[in-house]
Amino acid sequence: MPDKPAAAPAPPRLKPGAAVQYVKGIGPVRAEALQQVGIATVSDLLYNFPRRYLDRRNVQPISDLKIGAEATVLGKVIGQGARRTKRRQVYQVTIQDDSGVLSCVWFRGGDWIRDKFKTGDRVAVSGRVEYYRHLQMVHPDFDLLDEGDDPLHPGKIVPLYPGTADLRARGLDSRRLRRIMHGLWDRLDALPDHFTAPFRQQYGLPELALALRQLHEPDSAEALEAATHRLKFDEHFFLQLLMALRRRALQAQEGRKFPERGPLVEQIYRALPFELTGAQIRVLRELRSDFQSGRVMNRLLQGDVGSGKTVVALLASAMVASAAAQTAVMAPTEILAEQHYRAFRGLSRDTGMRIALLTGSTAPDRRKSILRDLRDGQLDLLIGTHALIQETVTFHDLAFIVVDEQHRFGVLQRGKLVEKGITPHLLAMTATPIPRTLAITYHGDMDVSLLDELPRNRAAVETSVLTAEQLPEAYALIRAAAEAGQQSFIVYPVIDDSEQGDLQAARSAYKELQAGPLSGLQLAYLDGRLSGEEKERVMAAFTSGATDVLVSTTVIEVGIDVPNATLMLVENAERFGLTQLHQLRGRIGRGELPGRCLLIQRAGAEEAEERLAILAATTDGFEIADADLKLRGPGQLFGSRQHGFERLRLGNLVTDGEIIRVARAAAFELAEKDQHLAQREHRPLKNVLMSRYRDQLEFVTVK
Ligand code: ADP
Ligand code: MG
Repeated sequence: MPDKPAAAPAPPRLKPGAAVQYVKGIGPVRAEALQQVGIATVSDLLYNFPRRYLDRRNVQPISDLKIGAEATVLGKVIGQGARRTKRRQVYQVTIQDDSGVLSCVWFRGGDWIRDKFKTGDRVAVSGRVEYYRHLQMVHPDFDLLDEGDDPLHPGKIVPLYPGTADLRARGLDSRRLRRIMHGLWDRLDALPDHFTAPFRQQYGLPELALALRQLHEPDSAEALEAATHRLKFDEHFFLQLLMALRRRALQAQEGRKFPERGPLVEQIYRALPFELTGAQIRVLRELRSDFQSGRVMNRLLQGDVGSGKTVVALLASAMVASAAAQTAVMAPTEILAEQHYRAFRGLSRDTGMRIALLTGSTAPDRRKSILRDLRDGQLDLLIGTHALIQETVTFHDLAFIVVDEQHRFGVLQRGKLVEKGITPHLLAMTATPIPRTLAITYHGDMDVSLLDELPRNRAAVETSVLTAEQLPEAYALIRAAAEAGQQSFIVYPVIDDSEQGDLQAARSAYKELQAGPLSGLQLAYLDGRLSGEEKERVMAAFTSGATDVLVSTTVIEVGIDVPNATLMLVENAERFGLTQLHQLRGRIGRGELPGRCLLIQRAGAEEAEERLAILAATTDGFEIADADLKLRGPGQLFGSRQHGFERLRLGNLVTDGEIIRVARAAAFELAEKDQHLAQREHRPLKNVLMSRYRDQLEFVTVK
């Protein structure tokens, strides 16, 4: 026996910050592919969580498969090859388990799939089960398994990683990632936990290193659950900590006092054509107490469509104007800004309140004089779109900001407007009702006021779901409405036919309706591409009642207020989110006349039907938002703007209610004790917060 060679020096331990290419199994080429998907360091690799797991409970024998159902099957590859059907080329891989045979097929040649399998490979495939001559799955999600990865083995849980075609092409499929992760643990340097032992104990959390390992290589279902809980807690905790610190920072800011209601408020109030609802009075008191508090107002006014947010904003700005300070009202669209302008002017008529409108389409001369008056303090209130945040806009004394439909603006845009004053008060308004678990996260740094009462004169809106065959009935209703002197909206999902193949398009439909089903009626057309002037003209004609039917896209979604409009028809309703349809529907039933909302469902079988039925069944915005959130996730509710919560990976704002509550309490307690995270023991928390939310810390100082 030859002498044992001298033991090679142990390779250095990998720190969490080390580049991935130093991990065994990852060279420069794979490191580059990983970087493309945002995995640059060892730590990123640890936080690249499996997207799901295979175990005995979610794998089915082939003989048990049900046609039409989603399933995961485990088997051996017994054959593969390309074949031609009459119309196209398919690539087929046949797999077998103890109970039967299943074909997996890929269309369009399936070139990329060709070299993925060898006969005898063990694979897991997931997809919808179909029957075409024999059992098959089309384009299934697949994963190769190693000898040791047997999900059928009792207690064995096999992680599947998120993948892209590129990762797969470079050999970074789930199987490889499992091997890489397995090799990583032995070489990993100590992984410090940002939570202290007493903290972990208090909240029943396993240690970070342990939780991460269990997430990638679970020993048991229980260990996996505990690990998932720990990492969800982490995510929610830091998001809530962000909220808590922001809130503290905002509350620490001194705010201008406006102690008196002032003469303008009295005048407007006395001239109102209606009585305020109890909710409006309550919210006005809340705003007033902010104005009196000496702290900066940072408040969200949440009220369902039609609950009367505008008049509340007007009365609050009148308090500010009475003290000779200025208000800015920012709306997401020109149409809405114009409408606010009309509403604010109308309700404050004969009071001497000086109001102007500034949008992208304001004529240069007019713009110049508005900007001059604004700077000189000759204006009390400026209403507008994004145009308000341009650099050339300077206020004499901006003390109050109202942001309408605030979820349409990013934090930065709001911030730019705020910078135009000296810590101005902020009132953000939204008609998107948000379920509570989401609200405490999304608006966790704000005080919330609720307009939870509709004006008494509001009539009911009846909603029905129709098929395209029933359109003649719908057009008959529109005609009848016009004959009774009422107006209708017809809303389309897209402007042009070419945009998305099979959808009804506003522009061509407008011409067809005018020539055919709705001939003789006064039709008008509106979409987001018209010039500001044209939009204004169309809206003015509709508001005045000169137009019977407004054919449009969803530009009318928010805020449009024409009480004489009683009927709305929405084409391809299945294409819209529930919240969006609720907003659209909010355009009718705004006066004393009952409204009718007709949703045309053209495609999408049961799922669409179920969703639309929710709208037909309720007009409660909260219920609808809740359903939408469950069906489509928070991104749909708020669009793709930066909020922080899109950074959650395991955390789920809809289903983690209990964890969120606990994490929030813990985070707020911490912020109470150490609002700059300056204490030594909180330094690790500060580092994590900075690395996750650096861009969201605008008001916060962490030291
Ligand atoms: P939203 O909250 O959706 O922005 P608006 O402020 O546009 O609602 O108000 C909707 C309509 O209700 C407007 O025509 C407004 O003048 C009217 N309105 C507001 N408050 C009341 C009230 N207390 N009683 C009757 N009508 C009201
Ligand atoms: Mg509104």
